[in-house]
Amino acid sequence: MPVTVIAAKPTEEVKGKFRFIDIAVNLTDPVFRGYHHGRKKHDDDLEAMLERSRAAGVVSMIITGGSLHESKEALELARQHGFYATVGCHPTRSAQFDQFKGGAQAYLAALDALIEGNLEGKGRVVAVGECGLDYDRTHFAAPDVQKRNFRLQLSLAKKHHLPLFLHSRAAHADFVQILREEGFGEAGGLAVGGHGGVVHSFTGTAEEAVELMDMGFHIGLNGCSLKTAENLATAKAIRPERIMFETGPSDRFVLSPSDTDPDAPWCSLTSTHASKAHLSSLPPSLKSLYFPPSTKPESFVYGRAVKGRNEPTAIGGVAWVIHKLNDGIPFEKVTEKAWKNTVELFRLHELQAA
Ligand SMILES: [Zn+2]
Repeated sequence: MPVTVIAAKPTEEVKGKFRFIDIAVNLTDPVFRGYHHGRKKHDDDLEAMLERSRAAGVVSMIITGGSLHESKEALELARQHGFYATVGCHPTRSAQFDQFKGGAQAYLAALDALIEGNLEGKGRVVAVGECGLDYDRTHFAAPDVQKRNFRLQLSLAKKHHLPLFLHSRAAHADFVQILREEGFGEAGGLAVGGHGGVVHSFTGTAEEAVELMDMGFHIGLNGCSLKTAENLATAKAIRPERIMFETGPSDRFVLSPSDTDPDAPWCSLTSTHASKAHLSSLPPSLKSLYFPPSTKPESFVYGRAVKGRNEPTAIGGVAWVIHKLNDGIPFEKVTEKAWKNTVELFRLHELQAA
């Protein structure tokens, strides 16, 4: 590990390289192959993007599986690149359960078989999900469809003793009710064979976060989790032993240090972000790693970041905001805590000794 020197304030001089595991990367998203909103805009630059991420200290990633089909792709990519994957079905796609040949039980059995066959070695499945409830987007799947198929997937976590990779949007009461009814109300469901989990891309209130942490769950923070003053108050309430960092999803909820900076990679959503003030203190040496210069998809240059695309490099920016919110806690302490939490929850043995 590189030696890290953190000088006294206010210079905020930070040296060394900090390491991260991005717990939510939508590496299956065509945007990493040059497709933006369904249209081919530039060459496939997945390798260059991964190289940039490594340079920014992103040592490993957990690739999100958002459906049966996508989970297969996630596992394949994880195997190719030595990462990890989740297997499950996102609430907005949970109608797939009922539309599947043989019905919901057959879809569940297919997810089960995919998990069963990929529990070991390189590119393995480390969590059941992405699953949960999303009441902001019920036009894709009605609440009762989402609830039924969320509950079904909890059985996979119990059976395989895997952590859950959870999504909860505007659905907290139903979300925790189902978790409690299925035995996940305490110690992350230890008594029913569960192994906790993480509620990723968290945008709920501080009270909701505390309730989930008390149930034994971790909280995943990304740019979306740091948009408003209320978001920041929630982020500050996350206990160190429960925190994880991420950048997913890939094309929304992005984070940028400055919307006036011509080099800022993602301008569209940032002018109102409460996180912006905290990113202004990011030292130039880290800013160039976490928010490298980017070009629009139309003027693509191989090896350069693409404007409007959320890349794992930005995970350092998320961690920096948390560092600034927790005045006095060295940046390295923040990044190492999240690293340790992630390695332990998902049992990433390969990274244990690193
Ligand atoms: Zn999600």
